[in-house]
Amino acid sequence: MVHIVGAGPGDPELITVKGHRLLSEADVVIYAGSLVNEEILKFCKPEAEIYNSAQMMLEEIIHVIVLAEKAGKTTVRLHTGDPSIYGAMQEQLDALEARGIEFDITPGVSSFLAAAAALKQEYTLPGVTQTVIITRRGGRTPVPDSESLKKLAQHQTTMCIFLSINLLAEIKRDLMSAGFKSSTPVAVVYKASWPGEEKIIRGRLDSIVDQVKEANIDRTALIIIGHCLDNKGNYQPSKLYSPKFGHMFRQAIF
Ligand code: SAH
Repeated sequence: MVHIVGAGPGDPELITVKGHRLLSEADVVIYAGSLVNEEILKFCKPEAEIYNSAQMMLEEIIHVIVLAEKAGKTTVRLHTGDPSIYGAMQEQLDALEARGIEFDITPGVSSFLAAAAALKQEYTLPGVTQTVIITRRGGRTPVPDSESLKKLAQHQTTMCIFLSINLLAEIKRDLMSAGFKSSTPVAVVYKASWPGEEKIIRGRLDSIVDQVKEANIDRTALIIIGHCLDNKGNYQPSKLYSPKFGHMFRQAIF
């Protein structure tokens, strides 16, 4: 049996209870060493065989799994954050399916959620935006034209930009040409949730490129943009906790 598991964003305590159990029971563990915090491997059995997929190609990963299956062993494939977000997971699932190998998936806490926690921020403020766009800027992996940053930015939602910290100057240009003002607040979160390593840079579109350069951040970072980051108090209070609105679980009192 193969378990695909989201390891969470970095803090070893942010793996799910189920992910932790599967990891602690696994005979074979293949982890995404470029991003998974190796501290999490302390949850593995001492005799577990551990592979770092950063040095492997798809065929090698599948080969390790096939051998484990033949030997009746349990494998955990450990992805960073949640495996469904930029996890190169689908090609692995398809390869397993093609070989008739059974698997299941345990989700993880994605880094864009750990970034919100680090910023102590809600992304979906009533009256400001009710939408979060998760995207990246095109680089070696192309992004379809219909999803260019310029087009997405026209909606002025909260945007969480992955895998693109080295393209921040281009991002700034795209967003400004899409109508975001130079004063739009931006935050960059480096290694969200990693104990002792997390860094938060808060700025505006016209200042963030220099701030990030100064902080020497060039990887493992998310760019968060949008008016949800504006000074507190720019939103409407929710209906959920308002005394004027009743719902299924509570009556209105006015
Ligand atoms: N599946 C992962 C994303 C993998 S893509 C998830 O759900 O989070 C790798 C990119 O994710 C990095 O380039 C960076 O943009 C972002 N990332 C991953 N972990 C991060 C963290 N702890 N803090 C900030 N960004 C992170």
